[in-house]
Order: sequence, then C-alpha cells, then structure tokens
Amino acid sequence: MNQPIPHYDVIIIGAGSIGVPAAFFLAKRNIKTLVLDKFPSVGQGSSKRAIGGIRATHSDPAKIRLCLSSIELFSTWKETYGDELDWYQGGYTFVAYRDEEKNSLQKLLQTQQNFGLNISWLDKKDLLEVVPDLNPNSLLGGTYSPDDGSASPLLATHAFYRQAKQMGAEFHFGDTVQEIILTQGRISGVKTNQGHYCCDIIINAAGPWASQIGEMGGMRIPVMPDSHEAAITESVARFLNPMVVDIRPMPGSSNFYFYQHLTGQIIFCITPKPNMWGYNVEETSDFLPLVAKRMLEIMPRLKNIRVRRTWRGLYPMTPDGFPIVGWSKEVSGFLQAAGTCGQGFMLGPGLGELLSRFVINQLTAQDEEILPYLSPYRDFSGQELLK
Ligand SMILES: Cc1cc2nc3c(=O)[nH]c(=O)nc-3n(C[C@H](O)[C@H](O)[C@H](O)COP(=O)(O)OP(=O)(O)OC[C@H]3O[C@@H](n4cnc5c(N)ncnc54)[C@H](O)[C@@H]3O)c2cc1C
Repeated sequence: MNQPIPHYDVIIIGAGSIGVPAAFFLAKRNIKTLVLDKFPSVGQGSSKRAIGGIRATHSDPAKIRLCLSSIELFSTWKETYGDELDWYQGGYTFVAYRDEEKNSLQKLLQTQQNFGLNISWLDKKDLLEVVPDLNPNSLLGGTYSPDDGSASPLLATHAFYRQAKQMGAEFHFGDTVQEIILTQGRISGVKTNQGHYCCDIIINAAGPWASQIGEMGGMRIPVMPDSHEAAITESVARFLNPMVVDIRPMPGSSNFYFYQHLTGQIIFCITPKPNMWGYNVEETSDFLPLVAKRMLEIMPRLKNIRVRRTWRGLYPMTPDGFPIVGWSKEVSGFLQAAGTCGQGFMLGPGLGELLSRFVINQLTAQDEEILPYLSPYRDFSGQELLK
C-alpha cells in the first residue's frame, strides 16, 4: 500500500543562517514546518563559515531594521532560552586613513542616525581611546557604533535549530530538492532524492544555491556564489573591543575586517578584488599574506599572533548587495529569502521573523516600508555602500 504523502504548511529549502531562524519563528507560531537540506547536518553551507560579525550599521533602512531586530534577539537569547551564543557587544568601527573614506563615511552617518542607529564620528584622539592599538599614522578618525557585536555562528545556528525542533519544526538532512511541484500556478510540493512532500508555501533559503531553487519555481533569482576567505588565531587576553573595518580598496582586495572574539581569538576576513566567483571552497595561498600585510599596517601589535586555521566559504551575492525577499508574482506560495551577501548571519533572526509575518499575512507598516529595498522585482542597479 502506498504511504500517504506528508503535508506541511511551509517547506523551507536550506538549513542555514536564514532557514533555521525562519523555522524557529514559524514553529513558534504553530505553523507546520519542514526544513530540507542536502547536507548531512545543520549550518553546513555558508552559515558555519561566517566569522560572526553582527551590525546594524548599514546604508539602507531595510538592513538596518532587520539587523536591529537581530541584535535584540542575539543579545537576549541566553537569558530567554538559556543557550550560550558567545554574544559580545564590542561595537564596530569603520576607520578612515584617507579623505575619500572619511568623506563617504561621514556622508552616510546622517542617514544612519536618521534611521535610529547609535553611531557617531570619532576623531583620531577619541578613536584611539576606543581602539588604542590602531596605527595612529595618517589616521583621520572613524565611525563607532557601540551596540553592534559578534557571536558564534556555530552556537547560534545550533541554538535556533534546537529551539525550532522543540517547538515542532521538522528537519530532514541529506534531502536534496530536485523539483518544485506546481498545481495550477500554485506551490503544491517538492520532490527530493528521498521522496515527495506536499506543502502550501515554499521558502527559498538556499543561500548560494538560491538561483537554482528559483529556477525550479520558474523565477530568476540573481544570486551568485562569491568566495571569501577567513582565518582565526590563537586566543590572547582581551585588547580589542570593536570589529575594525577598513574599506580602503588596495591591490588584490577591496576591504578587510577583524575583531577579537569573546573567547580571545582574532578572526579576520578580506574581500578579494577581483571577486572569486564559483562554488570552490578550497583556500588559496594568496589570502593570508594579503590580509596579514593589511592588518599589520593598521595594527602592528598583531605581528606575533599565530594563525590557527584558514577557511573559505561563499557569499550569496546579488548584483546590488541587497538581499532578495518577497513573494513570486507568477507562482502563488513561493517566497524568496536569498542573496544575503556577506551579512546572512546578522540578518538571519530579523529576516526569519519577517518571513513568519509573510506566511501569516501580517506584515506591519514598517515591513511594508522596507520591502521595496528587498523586492525580487527591483532593477538591481543600486549599490550598497557597506557590503
Ligand atoms: C568567510 C565568510 C565570512 C562571513 N562573515 C560573516 C559575518 O561576519 N557576518 C554575517 O552576517 N555574515 C557573514 N558571512 C555571510 C554568511 O555566512 C552568509 O550570508 C549566510 O550564511 C547565508 O545564509 P543562507 O541561509 O542564505 O545560506 P546557507 O547558510 O549556505 O544555507 C543554505 C542551505 O541551503 C541548502 N541547499 C541548497 N540547495 C539545496 C537543495 N537543492 N536541496 C536542499 N538543500 C539545499 C544548502 O545545503 C545550505 O545548507 C560570511 C561568509 C563567509 C564565506
């Protein structure tokens, strides 16, 4: 006898930085949710490769609002749910060593403050009080946003996963979605290498693979896998509070950033120039000499610290640097939650909560205000300044 095909209200494709918090918020609302992932366990895509930076310091209202919600959740998670996420509110500083960066950061500041961010400009002397080890030569100052911070992507994704399961969400691993089934222009289910599931809504949270899932549902989602490398050092006594970001373009890289994790290690990352497009996640030998040179230039104190490990992962990049969030106009029940670029970890909780409001059809006036920035149907000609 044939087994009945299981039915879910929502199927999320992707158990990563976006899919797992989304499952948590849906399960919390008693919505029958299944998360499918092709990998053998939670967070094995880009999620575990993030370095853990969490900021609301962006250049547009959508990411600012979503990340403010995320910070609220990360910062209260331990007292609410009991799990340690290694949350540390050390702030962020975008430093300026040239007039170009000083001018563009200062220009952005007004917009950021208008959107409610706690951010200010510090001149050289004040910035050196916050980050005493910055190279003072040519330093002009920088922005400082003390409410930003960091957490462990590994601990956070697993904490969301445990809570989502406890609230009733189901997760199937090693289950690769191969086909999206439509019935009269509506989502009706998926076929995977493991079987067949029925549902009313599909959320595309497939990260760097989101364009493939989009295509299965007849939608063009311009998300490209863009490789980035990162590294972690040995643990040392605390000497650095904020994440330090240097957006000066240099030969071989367009920016780089580093911070000291709650547990003492320095974690760092660089944005290569030109981009390294594709799904390859094997590290190059170019990364460490390139980034080490830039880090030592702005923080000579780091010269004796030992690197323990390097790795490479994928940013799910969009042409303009903004995420893609919203319903398909052609296929009813097909919701996109993709293209979070280098910020999917920090966007995850805020975006997960927003996705749950999409599903119950209870978007707020504030949601409606930010959704045009994220629309799958925008022209993608803009450019995010702090991506
Ligand atoms: C080096 C590095 C540093 C970073 N640092 C930060 C940082 O400091 N802060 C920050 O916010 N972000 C950071 N990021 C970015 C962040 O990691 C990503 O934006 C985020 O993880 C994307 O989340 P996601 O859920 O969209 O994708 P993922 O986490 O990749 O999840 C997508 C999932 O979809 C699954 N999937 C795909 N196709 C299928 C299919 N056909 N069937 C079933 N499952 C499928 C995959 O297996 C995967 O598990 C960094 C990224 C890198 C590489």
